[in-house]
Amino acid sequence: MACTPSGYTVSSIFRPDFAIGQVFPDLILVSSDHVHFHVHRQRLYNTSCNAFGGFLLQQSSLITIPQSAEVLNIVLHVVYGMSCLEHNLSLEAIEKAINTLIAYGVPIQHLARPSFPLYQLLVSHAPFHPIETYAIAGQHKLEDAAVAISAHLLAYELFNLTDEITVKMGPLYLRRLLDLQQTRMTALKEIVLRPPANHSPTAKCPQGRQEKLTQAWALAAAQLVWDTLPSISTHALKSTFEKAGPTIACPDCRAMLHMRIQEVMQEWSSVKRTI
Ligand SMILES: [Zn+2]
Repeated sequence: MACTPSGYTVSSIFRPDFAIGQVFPDLILVSSDHVHFHVHRQRLYNTSCNAFGGFLLQQSSLITIPQSAEVLNIVLHVVYGMSCLEHNLSLEAIEKAINTLIAYGVPIQHLARPSFPLYQLLVSHAPFHPIETYAIAGQHKLEDAAVAISAHLLAYELFNLTDEITVKMGPLYLRRLLDLQQTRMTALKEIVLRPPANHSPTAKCPQGRQEKLTQAWALAAAQLVWDTLPSISTHALKSTFEKAGPTIACPDCRAMLHMRIQEVMQEWSSVKRTI
């Protein structure tokens, strides 16, 4: 934002010289906190199915709208297809912008596809507010964003869900989140409960002695199944099972252990991580 000599504030992006293909702005939108945004009337008109909530039906070249500059700034970036990630926007402001876009007849599903600014905005908040961001994506059926955000919810404890968040995301996206966590836990159990294979019996390590490896594996697997979350990393799985190594004297058994650890890592990394 910049203050002009005449006393009002002008958006630092949507300025009088904000040209698109050498076409200069022909309309000023004024936010509720009196910031001026210089925009292209036709551009907004083409994006909206209701003349921007009817505001564009006014012939004036200066139109005051009820949103704050922070929200209007996001709305306009989305409409113009410009990234606004660098502005450190709050999730609250993003949600208000989404509601404004809907009220102004802008098709948000279309504008929230991967690589589009609205998708980037939502996904950028996923590491910090995963369930809130997921709920917003679910509420507005922003499928690509919801899928990407769900990767941050593998360890989310669903008993923490509030009624408000549950209602907001809706039954479909709640169900898909539950399914994701359950599928991963079932897959994890199936993977870790399969012990290393036996090697061909040798003089030093006949069939019976190889039970020691199977038991060591079973102990580690039981601990994992007991207190692991569906977000466990392949690295954590590896280090858990590697602890069984030093207890095994036979090099052939240790080789079978390491072979199975490699398989476990591969199998676990191929289990679906998103809804
Ligand atoms: Zn052995």
